[in-house]
Amino acid sequence: MFTPTLFKSQIKTTLGALLCSSMMVSNANAWSEHSLISYPILNTMPEVAEQAPIKVETLAEFVIAEAKGLEKLLASNETWLRENFAHYKPRPDALAFDAVNQDLQTSFIHAIRINPNARVNPYIQLLPGQDEQGRRRMDSSEVAVFTNLAHYNTMTFVEVKSGDMVTPMEVLVSANDDPDNGLDIGLFEDSNTEAGKLYGFGKQAFGNPALEYSSQAPFHMGFYHESSILFTLAPFLRETFPDYRVHMYKALSEYAFSTGHDYWGWRFMGWGMHYIGDIAQSYHSTLQPGVSTASSIWTNAKDIMGYPQAKIDAIQLLSNRHLVLEEFQEIITKKAYEDNDFSSALFTALTQETAVVEYNDNTFVEVFAKNSYDKSDKLAGYLERWVPEQLVSDPSFEVDGSKEIKMIVQLIREQHGEEGITKMTNLLAEFMLDHNANTRSYVRAILSHKS
Ligand SMILES: [Zn+2]
Repeated sequence: MFTPTLFKSQIKTTLGALLCSSMMVSNANAWSEHSLISYPILNTMPEVAEQAPIKVETLAEFVIAEAKGLEKLLASNETWLRENFAHYKPRPDALAFDAVNQDLQTSFIHAIRINPNARVNPYIQLLPGQDEQGRRRMDSSEVAVFTNLAHYNTMTFVEVKSGDMVTPMEVLVSANDDPDNGLDIGLFEDSNTEAGKLYGFGKQAFGNPALEYSSQAPFHMGFYHESSILFTLAPFLRETFPDYRVHMYKALSEYAFSTGHDYWGWRFMGWGMHYIGDIAQSYHSTLQPGVSTASSIWTNAKDIMGYPQAKIDAIQLLSNRHLVLEEFQEIITKKAYEDNDFSSALFTALTQETAVVEYNDNTFVEVFAKNSYDKSDKLAGYLERWVPEQLVSDPSFEVDGSKEIKMIVQLIREQHGEEGITKMTNLLAEFMLDHNANTRSYVRAILSHKS
């Protein structure tokens, strides 16, 4: 027999393992290269695309120039978060930004609780086909913190320096990927880092703290709409923080614009945009897309009673499907760029002027995350119907690193013909249309504060 407490601790292990699986693979990013998705959206927003070039400023320059104002802003933002976000982990008082601190940049980094090793120097990530303009090409390690940088091989980064002129578009599109480049790595008590011990985020609720990439998972996934019984059994599901990140970066962006520091206005806006993109992907908003709560709990119960196979299978399928969606998106997106196919379903979804909700403090959770959660059953259904069984319904098959995943489009075509490709592409386009609407909503809300 098992006691309720034991059951609870077991369910934590099991559900935690489920969540962990989706971030275990080396490059599970929700969407591959956010910049390729956000560029077509932003390029059709005249309020972004037609902005005049702006002057680059380093983080230290911004923080030193605005020390007093930032001290006030961050203090009032902290108060707001404590009062309004029920599951917020308060920033320890000792980390409050201090305008007379000797090392203002470090004080700022601690106050906003990002990875102190994150690369915050100005840079630009070139878009496919964009010229280097004589700028120095940077090594991936100057932009991202990871030990393994293999998946950065296809991207080009160039250096920009304080005083250089850049377009807001260049800043925004580059900054959009920053949160996947290391801002949220190693921030938990059990991350075995100094920052983790200081920051007050507690122990990592799910994911594997031993895996470098996995420690950002609770910042890039948000579970707000699971059934109440799941939250009761597994309260750690509440320990996710993308809503906090979005709120803070929006406040910083608006502050930077209002004080004439446009470079940081656009850069912070880009950081917030990242989480808005992530949450639009059902595997980042839903514990187990396509699986009922009852079934989740039954899988866990069997595991506890000594029959772990259902759990092991569920973990494998979750991971496989997450990767299949991401790889399909990556191939279709890169192909659309290669072909300059601006009439493709994908570009049409990203470039159309679509209905946009007016953004407020609840929009991220109540609209963006909710839409994504509501689409999760449909997404799982499409994967089961239109992707070869081996890749999405065979728990004995490991998709990560397989040759089949690279051939995903071809395999769909072989089995389901052009209809399969069209169905899956149209589904992807539906997610991209949400991505489009969410981005416009967020960017417009910030720019309404820009003079
Ligand atoms: Zn992410």
